Amino acid sequence: MPCFTTDNFNIDERFLPRRVKESPKVESLPEIPKQPEKWIALDFDGTVVTHEFPDVGKDVPYCVEVLKRLEANGVKIILWTMRSEGYLVDALDWFRSKNIELWAVNDNPAQVAWTNSRKVYAPIYIDDAALGCPLKESYSGGRPMVDWWSIEKLLQEKNYL
Ligand SMILES: [Mg+2]
Repeated sequence: MPCFTTDNFNIDERFLPRRVKESPKVESLPEIPKQPEKWIALDFDGTVVTHEFPDVGKDVPYCVEVLKRLEANGVKIILWTMRSEGYLVDALDWFRSKNIELWAVNDNPAQVAWTNSRKVYAPIYIDDAALGCPLKESYSGGRPMVDWWSIEKLLQEKNYL
């Protein structure tokens, strides 16, 4: 089994997580703990609201409807955003105002048992910046936003809706 080593990479030590510094080779990984049956990592700006950071943009059409149906199907939602501090609170308020529950924010509570990676583990990421994500022109004239009618079809194919 190939092991990660920093020997072949020119990575500044400051940017490595502690576990890599202390233990560059991983001989075996612990078992991955049970996850919710279905969950997604969901971006905020350009995905659920139009791009108007630092303000909260307008609702991206059809997003709330799809998110509520995901929730009704038991899908857990992880908010996956660059927002922090008060700007993150604004995003959390948006979800609260729509009565949409979040499972976690920029974290997967189940992954800490098997990885120190900062990447959030999710089977599906919905993000306007993801290559291949279906997009529509924004009605606010800014950058494109996620096309939730197309996302709905993709989620149906994955049996999430
Ligand atoms: Mg975005």
